[in-house]
Amino acid sequence: MFSYRHAFHAGSHADILKHLVMIHLLEYLQEKPGALTIVDTHAGAGIYSLIDGFATVSKEADQGIYRLAQFAKNNSVSPGIENYLACIHSENTADEITIYPGSPFILARLLRSHDRLKLFELHPKEIDILRHNINQLKQTKQIDVYAEDSFTRLKGLMPPPSRRGLVLIDPSYEDKQDYRYLENTIEEALHRFATGCFAIWYPCLSRRESASLPDHIKKIATTHKRSWLQVELRVENAPKDRRLQASGMFIINPPWTLEKQLAESMPILVRALGQDGGAGFVLKSFEA
Ligand code: SAM
Repeated sequence: MFSYRHAFHAGSHADILKHLVMIHLLEYLQEKPGALTIVDTHAGAGIYSLIDGFATVSKEADQGIYRLAQFAKNNSVSPGIENYLACIHSENTADEITIYPGSPFILARLLRSHDRLKLFELHPKEIDILRHNINQLKQTKQIDVYAEDSFTRLKGLMPPPSRRGLVLIDPSYEDKQDYRYLENTIEEALHRFATGCFAIWYPCLSRRESASLPDHIKKIATTHKRSWLQVELRVENAPKDRRLQASGMFIINPPWTLEKQLAESMPILVRALGQDGGAGFVLKSFEA
C-alpha cells in the first residue's frame, strides 16, 4: 500500500481520457446557476512537473499529452479536445507544456464563486504536497482537503446541500480490494444521492476484478434505474507488455451532451495517441 504516486502517470493517455470527460461533465453542470458540490475522492498531489521528478522516470506524458498537443498543432481536433488542451495550456506560461494539472487543479480553476470542491487523499506524502499546492490557489477558501479514506467518507457527504453534485472516483487500484470498496461506495452513494453525476475511472486489465468492474457498475446503475455511459480508450494492444494500454470512464447520470462530444473526440484521440493497429475505442450508453 502507498507505493502509487500519480506523478509517474501525469499526462498519460489515461489522464487525457479522464480529464477530457471530467471537464465536459463539470461545464455541463455549470450551465445551470445552482451551486455545485464537486468531490474528487482520490486527489493525488494536485499538479505535476513533467520536466523533473517522477514524471521524467516513466515519461508517460511523451505518449500522452505531448503527443496530443503535437497532433493538435497539425490537425483539427474536436471542440472538446480543444477545450481540454486549453485547460492544460492555461497552467503553462509558455507554449511548451512543462506542468500537468491533476484533477484537483483542473476542477479548482473551473469553480464558480458559489461552487465547492472536496478533495480526499490518503497518501502521507501526497496529502502534504496537495495541501501545499491547493494553498497557492485563489480558490483555496472554496476547497476542503481531507486526509481520509474516501471510500468510507463519501456517503457522509451525500446528498450535498444544493442537491447538485459531481463525484470523480479515481482510485489507484493498488489494493485489489479497491474494486470491491468502489462498488460498495457507489451503491451507498446512489442510495443517498440518486441524481448525482458519478464519474469512475478504471484501468482495462486482464485481472478478474478489473475485467468485471464495468459490468458490476452497470448492474448497480441499472438496479437504481440510472442512465449510464461507458467509454474506453485503447492506445495499443501488446498483451505481453505490462504498460497500461487502455482505460475507461464509467459515468452514472451522464449529461445528454456527453455521448455526442465523445463520438467526435474518441476517433481523434485514437488517431493522435494510437501506437499500433490494436488502438481503438468503446462508447456505450444506456438511458433509464
Ligand atoms: N485524480 C487524480 C488526477 O486525476 O489527477 C489522480 C489520483 S491517483 C490515480 C489516486 C490517488 O488516490 C493516489 O494519490 C492515492 O494515494 C489516493 N488514494 C488511494 N486510496 C485512497 C482512499 N481510500 N481514499 C483517498 N485517497 C486514496
